[in-house]
Parts: sequence; C-alpha cells; structure tokens
Amino acid sequence: MTIAFDNSYARLPHAMFARVQPTEVPAPHVLAWNQPLADDLKIDLQDTDKARYFSGNALPDGADPIAQVYAGHQFGNWNPRLGDGRAILLGEVLDRSGARHDIQLKGAGRTPYSRGGDGRAWLGPVLREYVVSEAMNALGVPTTRALAAVGTGAPVLREQGPLPGAVLTRVATSHIRVGTFQYFASVGDTDSLRALLEHTSARHYPTANSPKDFLAHVVRAQAELVAKWLSLGFIHGVMNTDNAHVGGLTIDYGPCAFMDAFHPMQVYSSIDHTGRYAYGNQPNIAAWNCAQLATALLPLEADRDAAVATFTEVVHGFGPIFEAAYDRIFLRKIGITTPQDGDMDLLNDLMKQMALAEADFTNTFRNLAQAPFPDWQAEWAARIAKEPDPEAVMQAINPAIIPRNHRIEQMIDAAVAGDMAPFERLHTALANPFAQRDDDLTAPPRPEEVVQATFCGT
Ligand code: AMP
Ligand code: MG
Repeated sequence: MTIAFDNSYARLPHAMFARVQPTEVPAPHVLAWNQPLADDLKIDLQDTDKARYFSGNALPDGADPIAQVYAGHQFGNWNPRLGDGRAILLGEVLDRSGARHDIQLKGAGRTPYSRGGDGRAWLGPVLREYVVSEAMNALGVPTTRALAAVGTGAPVLREQGPLPGAVLTRVATSHIRVGTFQYFASVGDTDSLRALLEHTSARHYPTANSPKDFLAHVVRAQAELVAKWLSLGFIHGVMNTDNAHVGGLTIDYGPCAFMDAFHPMQVYSSIDHTGRYAYGNQPNIAAWNCAQLATALLPLEADRDAAVATFTEVVHGFGPIFEAAYDRIFLRKIGITTPQDGDMDLLNDLMKQMALAEADFTNTFRNLAQAPFPDWQAEWAARIAKEPDPEAVMQAINPAIIPRNHRIEQMIDAAVAGDMAPFERLHTALANPFAQRDDDLTAPPRPEEVVQATFCGT
C-alpha cells in the first residue's frame, strides 16, 4: 500500500460532512514536494502518482474524500454555514509515531459548501501557505503542514485577472475548528455535537473527559499559541472562529504576515479596516473565540446555568495562561530564564523604544547587543550578567530568518513567471531559522520593497 489511510472522520455521523470528488484538471505537475514529511507519514510514491493524487485527478486506494461542514464568526459576524468550500479531505494516516494526520487537498474543485466560490486556489497563496506553514513548523509553532504543491495547468480567475491554478496538500492533526462546534450547536444537532466532542477529545486531548475539561485544554492551547505568534511578530490576519483550530494549530495562511518594523497595532490584511486582527489584539480575539466555543458546548450540559458559570471561569483563565507564556517567552528573547522583579519593566522599556524607533522586530531581538538603545543596553547587560548562558538562550529563541512579506511576494512573482528558484532558496533557508546567517534574506525590505497589505484574494 502506498498510503495507509484510516479515515475516522468519515466514520462519524453523516450530518458532519459531505462525500465529494475532486474535479479533474488538465495538466497536473509537481511544483514542490516535502520529502521529510512524506517520510514521517510513510507516504512513498512515484513522481507521476504525486501529480495525479495531489491534484485530485486520481484517488489513492483507501481515500474516502469528504468536505467538512462548519460555521463561524467572520470579523465578528455570524455566518451559519461555511464548510470546506475548496478543500477536500482525502483521509487520515498515522505517522511513524502513531499520531493521526489529515491529508487534505486545498483547491481541488467545488463542494456543496462552495457557495459562490470556484473551489480553486491560485499559485500565489498555495506557495505562500507552503512556505509560511513550513517556516512556522521549523520555528517551533504548532501549525498545519504542507506536503505538496501541484500546478493544475488551468487558469483561475481572480480580481487581478487569470492566474495559474494550483492545489496545496495540507497535512494537519485535524481540521476541527471552533466553527465546527458552532455549526452543530446552532442547528440544534446535539448528537453530532457530542460525537464531535468525543472524536476531537480522542484526537487532541485524550485525558479530557468533560466539555469543561475539553474547553480548558483549548483555552490553554490557544493562549500558548498566540504568545508564540507575538514572540515572532506574526500577524494571522483572519482570526475568524472558522480559522480557530481547537487543537491549537495555526491554520489558514491567507492574509498573514510577519512584521518587519515593530508596531504594536500593525495590521496587514487589506480587508481588516477596523484593526480587529491587529498584532496586539490577537490575544483578545483568541479569548473571544474561546468564549464562542464555550457557548457552542453549552447544549451538552444538562444544567446550563451552572455550565455558564463554570465555562466563563475557564475562559477567563485565558488571560493568566497567555500572560505567563508571553512573559516566559519574551524574557527568554532578552536572555532571561530566571525571572526576577523588574524584568518585565526592562522588557517593556525595550519594546517601547523599538516601537518609537520602528526597529526591525526580528533583527533587533536577534542582535540585541548591537541595538541602538545605549541606556537600555547598559541596564540589560548588568541584568543578564546574572544569567547562566543568555547568548545561547537568545540564539535558540530569536530566529535569524523569518518569511518576510517582500521575499514571499518576490518568490510568488518568480513562480508565476515559471522560475521556482526563489521558492527553493527561501524554503530551504527557512528550514533552519535559528542558524546564524546574514544575507539578503535576513534584511528588512528597502522602502520600495515594503508590502503594505496582504490580500484575502486567495
Ligand atoms: P477562508 O477565508 O479561507 O477562511 O475561507 C472562508 C470560507 O470561504 C470557507 O468556507 C472556504 O471554504 C470558502 N472559500 C474560500 N475561497 C473559496 C473558493 N475559491 N471557492 C469556494 N469556497 C471558498
Ligand atoms: Mg479558513
């Protein structure tokens, strides 16, 4: 067998998904293939099969393709039915360590949840997600992964005009979102809601044995995830509840971006007019998303009033968990592993000066000794003299390289013109983000290279 599928979601109640078939494309060709991930997943294929299977033109034995239904709050507005409009779950596999992963095609054609969409993706967002999600993984952030990018040979029509079509094969420990729970709660399907809770607990939190317990795990996972995002200057851009993963993975790399110059309220997404998903607002939004999950779990409780009280308390736990994670990670970023009074003031003072100076977020932390803040540095040097090995701590947590917007845009432009070399170079460099390097890939954008906004036009 070439892919050993074991499709547990497709065995759940029928209300939870629709059986679908990918739509054939004219000329599938592999653009990128993640061999280390394929090895982990025990996927061993000939090149011709990679193109056929991961474009959707042929189904590997054992696949049971489905589209999952979910709902969600998009920019705070309730949408009663979203679902996989351009994603098709081929099935699940167990990796070498026995952990379960979804194998999902993104951009493989329409599904019952496509609404007005074409079910397709174009090359740009496919390569963006490939590069950024794999970079996130290398940076130690929980995330969906990328197994393959396959060109389809068919154009996709977007605002900019016709663009080359592509399919991304996304791998994830699940694709279960806050919005998946919201869907079954909102339609009053308590049986499916309960089945979903059992399934999700078994996959992500096997020790959780009540809705409250499950919620507490999600709150912790989300709080720790957002602390990691902030520590890397990452802005997700579209933290809708349908993009809030209950396993605490980063999912949906649409309008995301890593900050160059530090600004606490930086926004990149071209459709985020109010700054709802700004850098510094991400903890508030993640907590709000957890509150929506809590609401969706209420129908599983006989005594709702009591559940409202206990769930509220659990959701209020988000703040302290987030702050502890944030403080721990950010203090490490300035070389401190044995916190003492005054350390957070030292950190906050640095961040204030960085914001005023519009200092490059990544490079400032990576080269703190060279930062142009002399008074701060004197105080900091005295403080870390008491730390065991601050240099090693900082080098292991402050990356030398992140996927900068302008590099991603340049990589996409080249790929559209048929040149995959910038993709290869960027992707290869990002596989070892903590290794010392000092070249054009680590440099902030020149003024004419700055990307002002990232687009949802995916
Ligand atoms: P996203 O903004 O990617 O989180 O997607 C929000 C919803 O829109 C999800 O239900 C997607 O499946 C759907 N969607 C996005 N793009 C397309 C497309 N090109 N065709 C069909 N559905 C889409
Ligand atoms: Mg999404």
